[in-house]
Parts: sequence; C-alpha cells; structure tokens
Amino acid sequence: MKQFEGYLFDLDGTIYAGTKLINGAAELVESLKEDGKMIAFLTNNSTLSAERIAVKLQTFGIQATEEQIVCPTDIAGKYLTQLFGRSNVYVIGSEHLTDSVVKEGHILSEDLNTPCDVVLVGRDLNFHYQKLEDAVLHIQRGAKLVATNLDYNHPIDTGEAVPETGALIAAIQRTVQVEPYVIGKPASYLFNEALERFQLNPNETVMVGDNPYTDIKGGRNAGLSTILLMEHLKKVPDDLLVDYTFSNLKELMDAMYMAEEA
Ligand SMILES: [Mg+2]
Repeated sequence: MKQFEGYLFDLDGTIYAGTKLINGAAELVESLKEDGKMIAFLTNNSTLSAERIAVKLQTFGIQATEEQIVCPTDIAGKYLTQLFGRSNVYVIGSEHLTDSVVKEGHILSEDLNTPCDVVLVGRDLNFHYQKLEDAVLHIQRGAKLVATNLDYNHPIDTGEAVPETGALIAAIQRTVQVEPYVIGKPASYLFNEALERFQLNPNETVMVGDNPYTDIKGGRNAGLSTILLMEHLKKVPDDLLVDYTFSNLKELMDAMYMAEEA
C-alpha cells in the first residue's frame, strides 16, 4: 500500500475502546514515529480536553502531546470566533468545553435574561430539562445552534451504548426546526485544523478510523486518503468510497511492513 507523510487516527474504537488499548495500536504509532511520519489523533470527544486525552494515551504507552490531539472541546471557541466573531454563548456541555469558549474571549450566557448569539452543545453528563428549554427558547429568539459533533451514542466498556451529543441535538430539533453548524467529523473543520497545524498536504495524508460515516466520509470530504478498520462491521456500506480496508490495526501494520519490504 501507499506510504503517507501524515497519519490521522480516530481514537475511540481505533486506538482504544473505552478504557482498553486496542491490540497493535501502540506498536503501530511507535513504528510510524520511527519512520518520521507525522501523527495526529482526530476525535469527536467533547467531554475531555486535548491535554486529558494526551494523558490517557500516555497511560496506554502512547507518547502523544496535547498538540497532536485535535478535538472539538479545545477548538470550539476558535470555531465560534471564525464563524460569528466574539459572541454571547449558552453552553450545554463539559467544563472543558466551557473553558474553551471563555479562553477565546466569548461571553457566557448564563440564562434567558442574558443575551445569546450561539447555543453550543457538546456531550453533557448533567443535561436536564431546563437546559433543553433554555436552548430552544434562545434559538427561537435568534441564536444559532452549534454542535461539537452529531454522534447519537457512544460505546462503553460493556459494549452497551450511552447518549452522545447527537442525541441532545435531536432533542432540540424535535422541539424547534433548526440545522446545527457542526465542528466534529464528518465536517471538514477538524481535518483542516490538523492539516494546517502540521503543514500536511491532503494528498500525502490518510485518515484511519472505524466509523464509515464520520472518519471515512469526513476524511474523503477533506481530500484525504482513507483506511477503514472493519473489525466491528459486517461489510463496507454500499454508498461508501474508501481506499483501503483492514480487519484491524495488526493487519494494517502487516500491509505497511510488507510494502516496505517490497
Ligand atoms: Mg471510532
């Protein structure tokens, strides 16, 4: 297979599954590093900051820096500035997401009595009815809706699913008709951020992930090559265009190693 300059990896389901490291992940990242490749991790995680995710990777034996983690949590504030300028923002989401908004100089909109230009929604473990009501009222009074990502659910260690940001967005959309702006995959923003941050050429960069709709469609939309890991998929979806498929990271590593030998 083709050798690339840049390798962008999804995290959940690709490098780790919940609290477990996926077989071959540390070895693959290590060999790419030895080969002088640029590596970054693109995740739709809106709960943890890049700093916390880097620490999580380090506990798995993967030496990643904060800069190598590209996630909506940290760049939400910058995204809002680029789209809307400095704004009054009502945040439904984690403390890390709120920090990102405040750090960028936006003003938090605490309740319905304060001005609001944007309702920003990420995964919120303390979501409740009043937040939903405030969000839909702000939107009906003219606020834009921004989603960190649109994943409906998120697998936990038992294999069961728990609600993700998309489920909260769906609750808003069931109340008011509104289309969200989206920061995470499959939208191009995270991909472009990574390309820019590491000065990568899309033609020399590949996205590796386990989700056909976020990782592969998103990677392709951003002009990258794509590698789909199939372990938990029965088949490649009919409408999907993907460059390479492998069962898992071990198989991918074998293919790369054999290509080097040839
Ligand atoms: Mg994944």
